[in-house]
Amino acid sequence: MHRSIPNLQDFFSAISFRDSLGFKTGSQRSERPIFINKTSPCRQACPIGVDIPAAFHKASEGKTDEALKIFLQENPLPGICGRVCYHPCEGECNRKQFDESVNIRSFERFLSDHGQADIKEEVPIHSKRNRIAIIGSGPAGLSASYHLGRLGYSVSLFEARSEIGGMLRYGIPSYRLPRSILDREIERILSLGIEPHLNTTVGKDLAWEDLESFDAVYLSTGLQSGKALFEREPSKGFILTGLDFLANPKRFGLGKKQKILIIGGGNVAIDVARTLVRLRSGKAKEITLVCPESRDQMPALLEEIKEALEEKITILTGLAPQRIHQENGKLLSVDFLPAEVKIDEASGTVKIIPFEGEIQNHLADKIIVAIGQTMKSLPLPEGMAVKEERVVADRFGRTPLLKVFAGGDATGGKAFVADAIASGKIGAFAISCFLEGKDVETEYQYHQIGDRSSFSLQHFTGSSGKNSIEKNSVDLKKVVTFDQINTLFFFQSPRKNPDQLEPDKRTRTFEEVAHGLEAASIEDEISRCFKCGTCTDCKNCLDFCPDLSILRDGESRFYGFDEDHCKGCGICSVACPRDIVQMVMEKNENVLIR
Ligand SMILES: Cc1cc2nc3c(=O)[nH]c(=O)nc-3n(C[C@H](O)[C@H](O)[C@H](O)COP(=O)(O)OP(=O)(O)OC[C@H]3O[C@@H](n4cnc5c(N)ncnc54)[C@H](O)[C@@H]3O)c2cc1C
Ligand code: SF4
Ligand code: SF4
Ligand code: SF4
Repeated sequence: MHRSIPNLQDFFSAISFRDSLGFKTGSQRSERPIFINKTSPCRQACPIGVDIPAAFHKASEGKTDEALKIFLQENPLPGICGRVCYHPCEGECNRKQFDESVNIRSFERFLSDHGQADIKEEVPIHSKRNRIAIIGSGPAGLSASYHLGRLGYSVSLFEARSEIGGMLRYGIPSYRLPRSILDREIERILSLGIEPHLNTTVGKDLAWEDLESFDAVYLSTGLQSGKALFEREPSKGFILTGLDFLANPKRFGLGKKQKILIIGGGNVAIDVARTLVRLRSGKAKEITLVCPESRDQMPALLEEIKEALEEKITILTGLAPQRIHQENGKLLSVDFLPAEVKIDEASGTVKIIPFEGEIQNHLADKIIVAIGQTMKSLPLPEGMAVKEERVVADRFGRTPLLKVFAGGDATGGKAFVADAIASGKIGAFAISCFLEGKDVETEYQYHQIGDRSSFSLQHFTGSSGKNSIEKNSVDLKKVVTFDQINTLFFFQSPRKNPDQLEPDKRTRTFEEVAHGLEAASIEDEISRCFKCGTCTDCKNCLDFCPDLSILRDGESRFYGFDEDHCKGCGICSVACPRDIVQMVMEKNENVLIR
């Protein structure tokens, strides 16, 4: 039977047939959403301040080259850091509180090994008239050269040795850092028009006065001498430093079957022991490492100690050397006393306290001492000071001499590659401020990341220019914590770790021990990263808004909200997995981003 359709207006006379856009529900709002990218804890913890989540985001879009470029904005040596950095970024990764930290270091290595980036593309090489001299080509000097080169300055790099790299070449063994990787990264830095001067020791081959024509000087000469074991070293014949040995391991003929005692509990001591095992094709029997620290206190990285033990190196802890027995210039043995080590957490000073107890006597043919490094006496220009064997400079590398800046191991602080790179970067920044007449302290505040010492040079240079990566406004000071991540949008998955060469294989060669992660595992790590504080254009805010009030610009992928209709319910803020959307009081204009 046919039913006639009633006239709807008779029933629902209150309904409007116009669209609801006419109802300006925005007037009900007391809070409104704002969209601001923030800082991740990993970025704050990385001494170099790399924008790690932004790189993960680019990689998630399949843009490996762009992801590498993000690393290169701050760090000229990603292939090196991707291998030997102590990765403090991972220690503070938010994902650690969910399951395990993201494998950031392996990601960095992957980008460096598989990405392509022409860093010359965006920078005005030699566009500025100023000339800068860099003394020392370790990671600090390389980083200062790179960043100054990118800022347009002409850089001359003076190096005492015959090759560039400092401890990257003459310290860290090739089974941890293949020289081909080092060469590749140095080549990229030099491509910025940096002029190297090798075999040139400043203060000897070249006088300080010869550098007067430069507009600024950056000193990064590192710590080139190993500390002596006893104040009066008995004989140079059977005792050598870890640094001398590692600079040229084959020179000392220690590949033969001799009893070697390595004194020290840090990474250098471990590197000496593992290099010796390789020189002896895996035979570790006569190699013993002795240190006063307990196993937990040893300053060497845990992974290094573990790998040394896998290579069958004997590690004796809690023993302090007391006396050397020798006859006719030949080493016979060394006496050790049981000892404990007290570390003052605040100052970092280490006190070795030997106990009166039973002396342990260890036979030995050679001793390799690796108990720390010191400055080689370096003639400094008048007015510069040295305190506790370090060049005196402030946190920006400024010295008492206006034109002279200093950084890296030579000025103290943490003696790690990433810290040396960070120091070179801040030196470049301070030199640039000095030459441009800017106040470095004020500038630094704008570009500081979180409340630590790292800062963003990308932010400083405003490289949001033509090929901008950092498009959205970003609050560098606001660090996203784990409780600000909406973990409902993530699922647990184990961290992927790289494979290694088997101990019995690796100790017969100097081949690289750690492999890189496979592409599939890198994909996993890319998706495991929360991208804390970086908008990934996931559209959650847009999808969850009940009032369809989130606006998205398709081209820029910037987000905003519809002022007329957003009621300020805050659902977008809750739905954002990575804390980009923040609710602020309607009248609050107090959100300034620079
Ligand atoms: C064996 C060993 C293993 C290490 N392993 C690691 C590791 O795994 N991870 C990590 O993070 N850190 C590691 N480090 C520490 C790291 O290598 C250093 O902290 C870092 O290299 C310091 O950088 P730098 O640029 O200040 O000095 P250096 O790397 O020492 O470079 C200084 C450069 O200055 C040159 N120079 C000195 N005097 C003059 C002069 N008068 N004129 C011209 N040139 C001069 C030197 O020849 C040298 O090339 C290791 C160090 C050693 C020794
Ligand atoms: S340089 Fe070190 S701290 Fe920085 S991202 Fe790389 S591994 Fe992490
Ligand atoms: S989850 Fe990603 S962005 Fe967040 S801290 Fe870890 S690595 Fe950094
Ligand atoms: S929900 Fe997604 S798209 Fe929206 S702001 Fe957050 S990260 Fe960006």
